[in-house]
Amino acid sequence: MRVWNFKGGIHPPTKKLGKRSSIEKMPIPQKVSLFLAQNIGKPPKIIVEIGAKVKTGQEIAKADGFVSVPLHSPITGQVVEIKKQKHPVTSRPADVIVIERTSEDEWIKIEPAKSHDQFSKEEIVKRAQEAGLVGMGGATFPTHVKLSPSKKVDVLILNGAECEPYLTIDDRIMVEFPEEIVKGALAFSKALEVENIYIAIEENKPLAIDSMKRVASPLGIKVVKLLTKYPQGSEKHLIYAVTKRTVPLGGLPMDVGVVVQNVSTARAMYRALELGEPLIERGVSVTGEGVESPKNVLVRIGTPISHLLKLARVREESSRIILGGPMMGIALNDIDVGVMKGTSGISVFTDDIVKKRTEINCIRCGRCVDACPMNLEPYLLYKLFKKKRFNEMSDYNLMDCIECGSCSYVCPSNINHVKAFKMSKTVLRALKR
Ligand code: SF4
Ligand code: SF4
Repeated sequence: MRVWNFKGGIHPPTKKLGKRSSIEKMPIPQKVSLFLAQNIGKPPKIIVEIGAKVKTGQEIAKADGFVSVPLHSPITGQVVEIKKQKHPVTSRPADVIVIERTSEDEWIKIEPAKSHDQFSKEEIVKRAQEAGLVGMGGATFPTHVKLSPSKKVDVLILNGAECEPYLTIDDRIMVEFPEEIVKGALAFSKALEVENIYIAIEENKPLAIDSMKRVASPLGIKVVKLLTKYPQGSEKHLIYAVTKRTVPLGGLPMDVGVVVQNVSTARAMYRALELGEPLIERGVSVTGEGVESPKNVLVRIGTPISHLLKLARVREESSRIILGGPMMGIALNDIDVGVMKGTSGISVFTDDIVKKRTEINCIRCGRCVDACPMNLEPYLLYKLFKKKRFNEMSDYNLMDCIECGSCSYVCPSNINHVKAFKMSKTVLRALKR
């Protein structure tokens, strides 16, 4: 089987601590805390008040326009609070709905629920929005929007790369639910009217490759093995590795006739169609040297992250909790925030793993240039950042930086390029407004 690759990138230790841990279903929590803003685009509009009784799967916030998805209650209970809380991703105050559980699940499902192949192209797109589906690899782009490209596409790629070190949930989802993923992929391909379907998986997941091949290959879906390399799961690199098509700078996958969907999103599509389930549950890895028992869990959206940490038994000496993986994740200060639709992992580390490194001057070694998968010049961008020459950073394609952290990873001067580039992008967006 050929191994597919791309230029640039790095090879951090993969540390897939939980790769042999079967997925466990977490107990339903007594209280959930739901950020409204869980998708790229506009957050939905709240349609419940404090005191409202809600059922599992009931819509509690309506989509606000096309690039927006509704939010559903993950439990049966009562709305007890609507408040502002610091959003871990944006660091800004954001609306949160708190629901307390009052009984076992009483479901409100989306009708009709029937076999995936009985839905029309239009019904699949509609169902994706009704079910609140977003990209579950972390991007949280509304799925129905991706299924409505304005250009002709001829390739669908399911992303099973999971290139972030430590994270293992997509690996386990592919091992344990291949039929559900494939049915979701077939629905996506019908909505997009494409016949070429690929499932792309890094070669360090042999069980997932075998599992997907067993179910997908007889149906003509190609399972491709990717080199284990970071950031292999980035859309543009995945597309190049699989099709040798290059998404232009500033362009979108559909510009080269491709749509990429995450494997967990495909599973959620299947469940929305055949079971009528909105997105109220997702798989999460709880991992890192800071936990005694790395886990892969299926958990209701809104479950406090502290519950997941307790289950995986956090070590006393743990000092850092990251939402996501160590390369692209963000430090988490409040462990009572709820799991979101884009939460694929919680990584916990001890002091000896997270060494504080002192930044020194750039020695112009060029390693960051070699490592950058977007062909940028990180050392130059950083120099411009230091001089606050933000517009020039834009001329050097700052906005194409995918914030993968490969440059910082290889830098012998311990420069935190990513932090600087994220700030610079915010400044540039503000200047544009
Ligand atoms: S890797 Fe670090 S030291 Fe080397 S050129 Fe880039 S910024 Fe400078
Ligand atoms: S963070 Fe940006 S500049 Fe650095 S390697 Fe990744 S894409 Fe390149």
